[in-house]
Amino acid sequence: MQKHQQLDLSKIKDEARKFEPEWNRFFQKNKKKLESLDLTVHQLHDEISEKTDCLQCANCCRTLGPMITDKDVERMSKALKIKTSEVVERYLKTDEDGDMVFKSMPCPFLGDDNYCAIYESRPKACREYPHTDRKKFYQIFKLSVKNAYTCPIVFGVLQELCSNPPKNSR
Ligand code: SF4
Ligand code: SF4
Repeated sequence: MQKHQQLDLSKIKDEARKFEPEWNRFFQKNKKKLESLDLTVHQLHDEISEKTDCLQCANCCRTLGPMITDKDVERMSKALKIKTSEVVERYLKTDEDGDMVFKSMPCPFLGDDNYCAIYESRPKACREYPHTDRKKFYQIFKLSVKNAYTCPIVFGVLQELCSNPPKNSR
């Protein structure tokens, strides 16, 4: 099925900046209500993900540095058939918060065709991004506002959620 990008990526930062105050107001007003609205958020996530082609985007792989755990290093080492120490040496560095991240972005495993060269063995943070399908979404609302500067899926979820305040269900 041909999917399409809903938001022009070159405009996502400006658009997110424009809507951020509105999203934050929504959060302040609906904080309590959001605690019981995971189902609504997850439905929006599914609908918008279905319409979004990550292979046309790859903005997260180009710009965000996922946090990488020891387990991720082990998986990557198996996939790349090199020692864990070599994975660290070749691809990783420790950032100012003490977390392991890729030495540089765009990610070294992102291909010109936007495919991930280690997709089956990619870091957990890559698997979980953009998080709009996780439980207790209200706990990551503010992080999602930040992610909306990068990810059209998050942007769409926040837009839909905040412009059509859901009724309290579940
Ligand atoms: S490892 Fe793969 S999914 Fe993760 S940032 Fe790199 S290219 Fe993207
Ligand atoms: S998860 Fe979001 S930022 Fe990453 S490729 Fe998909 S739409 Fe783009």
